[in-house]
Amino acid sequence: MPSAHTRYEKARTAERFDANFAPKKPRLTDHQAMQESARCLFCHDAPCIQACPTGIDIPLFIRQIQAGQPEAAAKTIYDSNWLGDACGQVCPTSELCEGACVHVHQDRPAVDIGRLQAYATAQVLDAASGETLYRPGPPIPLKVAVVGGGPAGIAAACSLRRAGATVEVFEAREDAGGLNRYGVAPYKYSNEDVERELDWLKAQFGFALHTSHPIVGREALEALEERFDRIVLAVGLGPTRRLAMPGEELQGAFGAVEWIAALRSRRHHWPVPDRVIVLGGGNTAIDAAAEAARCGAHTTLVYRRSREAMRAYGFEVEGARKDGVHVLFHHQPVAIMGSDTVTGVRFHRTSEEHGKLVEHPELALELPAQAVIRATGQHPAGDWAEWVPNLERDARGRIRASGEGQTGNPRYYAAGDAVNGGAEVVHAVAGAQRAAEALVRDWRARA
Ligand SMILES: Cc1cc2nc3c(=O)[nH]c(=O)nc-3n(C[C@H](O)[C@H](O)[C@H](O)COP(=O)(O)OP(=O)(O)OC[C@H]3O[C@@H](n4cnc5c(N)ncnc54)[C@H](O)[C@@H]3O)c2cc1C
Ligand code: SF4
Repeated sequence: MPSAHTRYEKARTAERFDANFAPKKPRLTDHQAMQESARCLFCHDAPCIQACPTGIDIPLFIRQIQAGQPEAAAKTIYDSNWLGDACGQVCPTSELCEGACVHVHQDRPAVDIGRLQAYATAQVLDAASGETLYRPGPPIPLKVAVVGGGPAGIAAACSLRRAGATVEVFEAREDAGGLNRYGVAPYKYSNEDVERELDWLKAQFGFALHTSHPIVGREALEALEERFDRIVLAVGLGPTRRLAMPGEELQGAFGAVEWIAALRSRRHHWPVPDRVIVLGGGNTAIDAAAEAARCGAHTTLVYRRSREAMRAYGFEVEGARKDGVHVLFHHQPVAIMGSDTVTGVRFHRTSEEHGKLVEHPELALELPAQAVIRATGQHPAGDWAEWVPNLERDARGRIRASGEGQTGNPRYYAAGDAVNGGAEVVHAVAGAQRAAEALVRDWRARA
């Protein structure tokens, strides 16, 4: 039974894990899709399209669903976004297309665009033989290596194959998918979902995918430069930043991205502690807290500033609260306590004076916990500025690239989190598609 302080029973079995992490937005039935698509006003100026970073023709695909042509709807979606299924399920739609829907401005619920999108893409992904909607373009003598098999790398590979280039993707991990597989909350997008769309895209475009194949250091890049005309860096971000706080090395102290990645692969094979503290105020902190709560741990999220200063989306904060997460503001962690293993966290109360954070050591607080998860941002992944001549990083460690992904080295393009510093899947896809198109255009101009 759940304890008095938790909403979820501890996820000790596969069945319990699946129940606790059941999809938040289950797939629409045919009937529901018909009803929901009928709510669309097919606006002439369609503000929802403007709000989508990949510019999907939303009223057109909704009209195709309404006309009983979900495969055509899927084609409309994939024509603009190679990860149409992932984006339908993981996009913060209320901040993007649905936030712009005209219904919202008339105080009515937005059309459920994300779920309609996932409904349409499922029709082609679930087809027995996997519906064929695309083929590679007529071959051109351009060979491209893509480093990183996350959303940006896969989207770039599809666009490049569509243009007829030969493409090989190199992924460091055992499985491709990037943060869709190792980061996004499992109640939004499952490993099976990742496989399904990836397999379908590979079947459509036939790019080579080498997993467990990290590209690290100048020598490895020289080898790629010999074999390929252009290289796309889609390497995302690195491990969680440390806070330089005593106790970070204790057993039971985790970085958020590492903890979430472990949870996604180990699922219920994890001894869920009674109490978990999550430190941070961004979307990753909220995700980690909601997931710890769904594991059945009493979870407290502690942020050093106010609710207003949090970077996390409001709907995600409310979702975590509904999952049973306790939120404590204005407390700065100063030490993780324990000798070998974590026993708690010590905080100082804070206040904000003219936007500046002021610590009050005289107002200390100690909270008990057996696990502490730091959601304190991520380091850049790899020393690309050292390994690639003329490639630069900005002050935040992001790879410097033009709006079309061109880095300081004309043979290298970059896209995704590595360039934008960490945004959403749809931004990674949009940037990668732009970079791939620019790469082919520039290559043609020089050929
Ligand atoms: C915890 C968390 C939750 C999130 N939840 C959401 C969400 O709900 N919705 C949403 O839209 N976005 C979410 N995001 C953001 C989203 O996942 C990212 O913006 C997106 O995955 C970025 O794609 P990418 O391809 O640039 O990077 P990644 O997804 O990080 O992929 C990069 C890939 O490159 C590989 N790689 C790195 N270095 C090398 C190397 N040297 N050689 C070979 N391969 C390498 C990595 O293993 C990885 O597979 C979340 C992010 C996090 C951290
Ligand atoms: S804004 Fe809303 S109602 Fe208008 S086309 Fe887009 S989804 Fe349909």
